Amino acid sequence: MTNRSSAHRTFLATSIAASASFWIAISPAFAQQSAPRDPAEPQQEQPHPKLLPRPAAAIARQSVDEKSMRALIEQLVSCGTRLSLSSWTDPKRGIGCGRDHIVARLNEIAKESGGKLQIVVDKFEATSERTAGKPVPLESVYAILPGSDPKLAKTLFIVSGHYDSRPSDVISTEADAPGADDDASGVSVSVESARLLSKAAASGKGGYRATLLFAAIPGEEQGLLGGYRLLEWAKQQGYTIGGMLDDDIVGDDPSPGAPHRVRLFSGNGEIDDCDSPGRELARAIEEIDGRDNIRMIFRVDRYGRGGDHYPFYKAGLPAVRFTEPLEDYSHQHQTPRTENGIEYGDFAKYLNASFLGDVARDNAEALRQLAMAPAPPTNARLTGAVTPDAKVSWSTEGDPERAGFEILWRETTEPRWQVYDFAASPGETVLRGVSTDNHFFAVRAVGKNGARSIAVPTEIERRPPPLPAGTKQ
Ligand SMILES: [Zn+2]
Repeated sequence: MTNRSSAHRTFLATSIAASASFWIAISPAFAQQSAPRDPAEPQQEQPHPKLLPRPAAAIARQSVDEKSMRALIEQLVSCGTRLSLSSWTDPKRGIGCGRDHIVARLNEIAKESGGKLQIVVDKFEATSERTAGKPVPLESVYAILPGSDPKLAKTLFIVSGHYDSRPSDVISTEADAPGADDDASGVSVSVESARLLSKAAASGKGGYRATLLFAAIPGEEQGLLGGYRLLEWAKQQGYTIGGMLDDDIVGDDPSPGAPHRVRLFSGNGEIDDCDSPGRELARAIEEIDGRDNIRMIFRVDRYGRGGDHYPFYKAGLPAVRFTEPLEDYSHQHQTPRTENGIEYGDFAKYLNASFLGDVARDNAEALRQLAMAPAPPTNARLTGAVTPDAKVSWSTEGDPERAGFEILWRETTEPRWQVYDFAASPGETVLRGVSTDNHFFAVRAVGKNGARSIAVPTEIERRPPPLPAGTKQ
């Protein structure tokens, strides 16, 4: 199969060389890039803004502590099961054992942070079909790194993994549920991000203007109970959600040809001509971590599956999900057993430490840059329909650390933004000779430190066409 497809690629490559016109005929992407038969936009020369480089001191891959990540996963697996309905008080078996290991590890990290990292255990109750309709006690663990900017400290960037696990029977507390990949792996990414980012904060070098929250939450397998609670808790504390990174099943990459890119899921949103905040968060992460490391998937989650980013996404907030490149279903949601020679169970032995370390680095670096950025602009608008020039306007609050704004555009069929121009201050920018109709537009804020906010797509004034008399809009 592999040989056949590479032979096929070779054939295509040869064909391109032999016949450029053949290639154009079969490749819409190429046709769009060259756009030989479309009018130039802008009609005169395009601006060439000088762009600030991204923030220095990126987190180095070798600073990720794979050994400690692995140790935490093994401690969590040693709890036998971490089903949310299991014991909260038995230190050896059950979800309480999981909570204890996470709190202990975060306390170690907090000590090294010079007191900057604060650990909170949030106790609550929740009910679902999978709690037999009865309220059950749950506890979420949050490590909080407060932002340095008085205004932006009320904005929260979250990384989260769920520490509950499940066997085949979703309410059985008897069966073992090691849950190494689902989702001790995600918890280890959240905890390692806390270590990587609070280390810099301790030495006064972090520069995080917004607040960072590293979460390990329960109740996912019982119906996203910890995710819904996290959203509620953040609102109760008066936070705005700057971005939510859910890491769930991020520990394995067994397919030939590894390492592969981690998948990053983001939902489409529900507004025409406009992308969801989650999509903008995904684009921001891809831009920070690079296309070699992130595989964006424009879908809220895998089919038939859910995750803790979902409550945030449904609330219209920027939330995404990281998941490994290709899942092995015999290692998920399975009571450990061997059947017909196949071993079922979510064991730590299947994990790939190097892949998991990559995911931790990508999460931490994305969080670092997002927390350094100015607030995204508000009221981004596109006007100028039925005129030769598009007009992009936006507003924002004062911020002495902000360098200005990038006006972004893209072909309506393109997945990624490009920078069209730079503006030092908010207001309205006229894009001379650019049609409102052929591109999508967005604006993002840029800090003097080079960190970018997530993009805010422009909204257009809705002008429905006249309708026949008696027709309802
Ligand atoms: Zn999961």
